[in-house]
Amino acid sequence: MKITLLGTGSFVSDLEHMGPGYLLETDDKKILVDTGCGVQIQLIKLGINIYDLDYIFITHFHPDHTVELYSMLVRRYMLSAFYGKDPRPLYVYGPKGIAEFIKGIAKIHQLDLVPQFKEIYFEELVDKMKELDNFSVEAFAVDHLNSDAVSYRFQAEGKKVVFSGDTKLCEGIQKAIQDVDLFITDCSAPKDNPIEPHLLTTEIGEISKKANVKKVVLSHLLPLGYDTDLVSEVKEKFDGEVVLGKDLMELEV
Ligand SMILES: [Zn+2]
Repeated sequence: MKITLLGTGSFVSDLEHMGPGYLLETDDKKILVDTGCGVQIQLIKLGINIYDLDYIFITHFHPDHTVELYSMLVRRYMLSAFYGKDPRPLYVYGPKGIAEFIKGIAKIHQLDLVPQFKEIYFEELVDKMKELDNFSVEAFAVDHLNSDAVSYRFQAEGKKVVFSGDTKLCEGIQKAIQDVDLFITDCSAPKDNPIEPHLLTTEIGEISKKANVKKVVLSHLLPLGYDTDLVSEVKEKFDGEVVLGKDLMELEV
């Protein structure tokens, strides 16, 4: 599997830290996890358009993770309806209420194109495993304010990778990362500057050690942590490899 970090920022995105978004590529599938601010442009930089995607997974509905979702689906519709692009089926997975979320956004925007969407399928995925083409994905409910948040664990080619989404320390994230090869994690908070409800650097280290994670990549970064050595803080508790995520960084597992 190949993973590209499209955006390693959060609500406070900037040119070097776009909003959360990750591209996961298996042999023949393109999977997008979260749709934060700037993700469309990052994909275009890579030569990938919305109609090239097979799957979108949404970790939770907070705006920093979803702000570009509806506009991406509208872009797909426009390219198909007016520019002759022939998109492949697109499956959009998310927490409870994913279809209603899109319909609600469409209504607010006063541009309800949902009935005209061709071959876009919405499905809820919470606390269950799904086999899809040449990979599997399991959604683990995690604790993030009162949102229906999930972490996703993908498995393909004998390797496992987890995208935490946003979460505080909880049983769900601990279960999700057991024995994974790559853990791409919410790292909003240096140890001396807690931000509820997000993982602290030292908590990332502790759960990664306990779960026998091979490699940790820090993402969902906030300006208050830019000048902190986040990697060293995680390493206080974890002996494995830790990498500070950067936009457009590519990772192979
Ligand atoms: Zn977030």
